[in-house]
Amino acid sequence: PQDCPLEREDLGRNTWSLLHTLAAYIPDETSKEDKEDLKHFMATLGKFYPCDVCANELASRPMVLKQNPPDVRSRNDFCQWMCRLHNSVNERLGKPLFDCSKVDERWKDGWKDGRCD
Ligand code: FAD
Repeated sequence: PQDCPLEREDLGRNTWSLLHTLAAYIPDETSKEDKEDLKHFMATLGKFYPCDVCANELASRPMVLKQNPPDVRSRNDFCQWMCRLHNSVNERLGKPLFDCSKVDERWKDGWKDGRCD
């Protein structure tokens, strides 16, 4: 039904859309301030993300932010880190893993076969 509170799946899909799209469009070279802000942003998301199971997972899995902090050295590094984070959730949920060499096609440039043009 439309206009109803989000189920976990819809919230997840929307959140990943924001996260991958945001990562795709940060500056190629991140400033010192950008790096700090991106790390805070991910930490805050982990703290307040409204899904108990998910937040706990973010805080206790091998890909966790503390043990594996966001790689914010550059736009490409952050996109690849986000892809690996998403794949760790995919793996846990038994979903297919995404080929991280294709993140820019999926989230920024459109597929090489032109289907998004
Ligand atoms: P999604 O996983 O939402 O993916 C959307 C689209 O992203 C895909 O169609 C694909 O085109 C693309 N994509 C897939 N993998 C990647 C990747 N690695 N890199 C780039 N693009 C990719 N749900 C739970 O049930 N339990 C949980 O513990 C849980 N934890 C979550 C933790 C976080 C931080 C987030 C944001 C979501 C979590 N979710 C969890 C939701 C879950 O990840 C999915 O969003 C939800 O199950 C819907 O899945 P989907 O198959 O529609 O595709």
